[in-house]
Amino acid sequence: MAHEKLDDLFLETLKDIYFAERKILRALPKMAKGAQSPDLKAAFEKHRDETEGHVERLQQVFEIIGKRPQGKTCEAIEGIIAEGEEILEEFKGTPALDAGLVSAAQAVEHYEIARYGTLKQWAKDLGLKDAANLLDQTLTEEAKTDEALTRLAEGGLNQRAKAA
Ligand code: FE
Ligand code: FE
Repeated sequence: MAHEKLDDLFLETLKDIYFAERKILRALPKMAKGAQSPDLKAAFEKHRDETEGHVERLQQVFEIIGKRPQGKTCEAIEGIIAEGEEILEEFKGTPALDAGLVSAAQAVEHYEIARYGTLKQWAKDLGLKDAANLLDQTLTEEAKTDEALTRLAEGGLNQRAKAA
């Protein structure tokens, strides 16, 4: 089947983020476990629960377009998550670990925000109003998570990372 139109792009990108969300679902408990600050740990746990909802919303979007939910390997998210794991290992037990985990998590959120922003617009352009609404709900949660991480970084994690 040839890929040539916007609905093909939409489906392929949906598969990309579906793969990514399930990967993120497995990575967040490791980030939560590694985090030293109880607030950061709680933020990762909260977002893990939200991410379950993101997977479910994507399954609903697949259903709306009459396709079976299917992931497609996303090398971008694999790389971003691998960098997070690197920080977990290399900064284990150091004052800088939490600041590093925030930076790794924000890279994940920004990737998701890019994808959901695009998918929401394409859904609108394709006349898929319900799908656009679902994608917008997730986009809002990703943006709020990004903001919460910024508040944690500014609220002491970066300062703590300077002390040694
Ligand atoms: Fe997500
Ligand atoms: Fe997220």
